Formats: sequence, structure tokens, C-alpha cells
Amino acid sequence: MLTDPYAWIEQSLATIHQANWYRSVQTIESLPGATVWLEGQEMINFASNDYLGLAGDDRLIKAAIAATIEFGTGSTGSRLMSGHRELHRELEIAIASLKQTEDALVFSSGYLANLGAIAALVGKRDLILSDRYNHSSLKNGAILSGATVVEYAHNDIEALKHQLQDRDRYRRCLILTDSVFSMDGDLCLLPELLDLAEKFNCMLLVDEAHATGVLGETGAGCVEHFGCTGNQLVQVGTLSKALGSLGGYVAGSTALIDFLRNRAPSWIYTTALSPSDTAAALAAVKIVIEEPQRMRSLWRNVNSLKQQITQHLPQLKLLPSQSPIICLQMESASDALSAGQQLKSYGIFAPAIRPPTVPTSRIRFSVMATHQSAHLQQLVEALQLRLGEKS
Ligand code: PMP
Repeated sequence: MLTDPYAWIEQSLATIHQANWYRSVQTIESLPGATVWLEGQEMINFASNDYLGLAGDDRLIKAAIAATIEFGTGSTGSRLMSGHRELHRELEIAIASLKQTEDALVFSSGYLANLGAIAALVGKRDLILSDRYNHSSLKNGAILSGATVVEYAHNDIEALKHQLQDRDRYRRCLILTDSVFSMDGDLCLLPELLDLAEKFNCMLLVDEAHATGVLGETGAGCVEHFGCTGNQLVQVGTLSKALGSLGGYVAGSTALIDFLRNRAPSWIYTTALSPSDTAAALAAVKIVIEEPQRMRSLWRNVNSLKQQITQHLPQLKLLPSQSPIICLQMESASDALSAGQQLKSYGIFAPAIRPPTVPTSRIRFSVMATHQSAHLQQLVEALQLRLGEKS
């Protein structure tokens, strides 16, 4: 009798359910913002990456509509075929100006930017050293590149130094790190990483997905926050978080960008970013440059929430955070799921993050520039109510 080659899928799903790791989508029924409608109820939104509240901003919406009317819905081809528009180049120049680099290249997502940059920079005879807590796009980019991949313990500079002792056995070496670790909220140790990269003749790729528009004096990211300069690095980022649109980019030296245009497979062989996403991202970069007060509001909110939690809820176990991402540690996946449900019943939308995304379960709160102080207070009250019910 023939066996069903797909039978294992149902068994795997059963295992996922058993571990409380099952994931499903939740439908947002309104414009993105500090509050959103979810399942027929208005909630305070601590689940989004829209740190500056730009995804629902009128100016981005109008720019996207105008670009669609002028250039259509799709870009119709890859950048090197029929997909390139002047808008793409304008966006790249604006990103380079924000990131203080010589040039930039726009990809169709941040994930693709990482896959493409890593594949272009290293191959079979090379070594990748990668922080264990890096984003999936860095991890999968490393695997796809064909290089030898070694993970080092999270932010462990000594461990990295130890692994660099093997550096000379390889042609090139690339160190990979998130700048803000997306599921933890802490920062990479960029100056130390740069020192090691220089000492051991390595390239350093830093993923600024959660830092662009958020960190540094002008919103240039973690690189600016630490006072490092851009062109000695490969900086990757996304247009889909603080910049409220869709797409990704690499920023760096003129030579790097020119090289990627010729060698990054996920740039060469995929359809160019749509006119509407490109125009919305361009409007967002201009807002980040021209309205630094948005980032200041974000940090006022971040500091206020952290201070209120420390003062009123000292018993909560928070992961160390130097960003708008604040994670509350949970005992187990089922604990995290029930906490997420309970917070929802108090009008707070914040996701439970569970393995295999992270090693230990947590609730992740993302603060936005457009949260009102009443929103932050309501979160603190909800957490107090939850603790009251637990004890
Ligand atoms: N890097 C990091 C650190 C991220 O958090 C994400 C998105 N979750 C990405 C890259 C991918 O970006 P995008 O959503 O634009 O593909």
C-alpha cells in the first residue's frame, strides 16, 4: 500500500499545538496607529514596528496614491530590466543622506536585502561569524551564502574573539549582527565589534532594521548612536518599521553599492519595489530628517514607560532594553499566551513571542512616538491588574 508522503505535516502540526507554539494571524480592521481595531474592539497598540507612527500618516498615504496614479501599481520588472523609476534613485539618495553613507541600494524587503548582501559578500571559501540572537534573515542569508557559519553567544565579544583565531584559514570573513536585537530590545556592542573587525581584517554587516529612525541624534541608527562612521560598514535596514512602508536597503560606500547592483541575487532577480511603497518610504525618510521631534516623542514615551514599570511594577522581569522594544519574561509558552489574551481583554494589544522564534517565551511591547501618556498608563494598569489576578 502507498504511504502518504505528506502525512508528517499533520503530525508536525499536532506537535506544534502540543507545545503551545501554534501561530495564527490576527486581523487589524483599521489604519495602523497608536490604537487599532482588532476583532471589533479598539485596542492600544503595542504590537507594531511603526515606531514613529508614520504608516498611517497622511503624507505617506498621499505620496503612495500619487505615485500609483503616475506610475501604476506594479513596477513590472527587476531594476535592471523594466522596473527602475527615478523614484527608486531619489529614495536611495535620501537613505544615503539619512545614514550618512556614500550611497544606498533599495531592495524589495529587508529580508531580501540581508539575503542579497550576504550572498554577494561571501561564498564557499569564507567564514561568517554571527550573533546567536540575530534575525532570521541574517541566519538564512548566512546559510544560503555557502560560507562556513559559526554562531557566537549573544553579544559575547570574548567568544567572538576566540572564534576569530581561525580567521586565517578562510579567504574573507564577515561578522553579522542586529543593531537592535528585535526580540530582546538590547543593542549590539558596535564599537567593540568594529575594533575586532579591523584587527582581524573582517567585514561587518549590521542590521539597522529596528534602529533607523529610532536611534542616533538624527535617526541614522545604532551606528550614529555609537558615533561610528558609516562607510567602513555594511548597513542593512528596512523601510517597513519606523519608515512606515515596505522594502529594505543596504547603505555603505559607493564601491559596495555598485558591487551589489552587479552581484546581489535578491536585487537582480526580483521585481523592483512598487511605486507606491517607494514613494511612501521617500516621504517617510524626509519626515525623519525634517521632524526630529517625532523621535524625541518616541524616546519620551519609552523612558516614561520604563520608569513607570520600574516604579509601580518592580516585581516584573524585564529583559535589558536600550530601545523602544520592552520584553516581559514569561515562565512558559502557555503563560505567554494567556498573558497576551488577558492583556487583550484589558484593551492592550501586545504579542506573545514563543520558541522557536526566541529561546524563552515573552510578551513584547513596542512603544510608538504617537502613544499618548494615557495609553502608557493604561498598559501599566493592565499589568497591575494581571499581577493582582495572579497572586
Ligand atoms: N532584520 C530584522 C532585525 C528584522 O526585525 C526584520 C523584520 N522583522 C527584518 C530584518 C526583515 O525586514 P522586512 O520586514 O523588511 O523584510
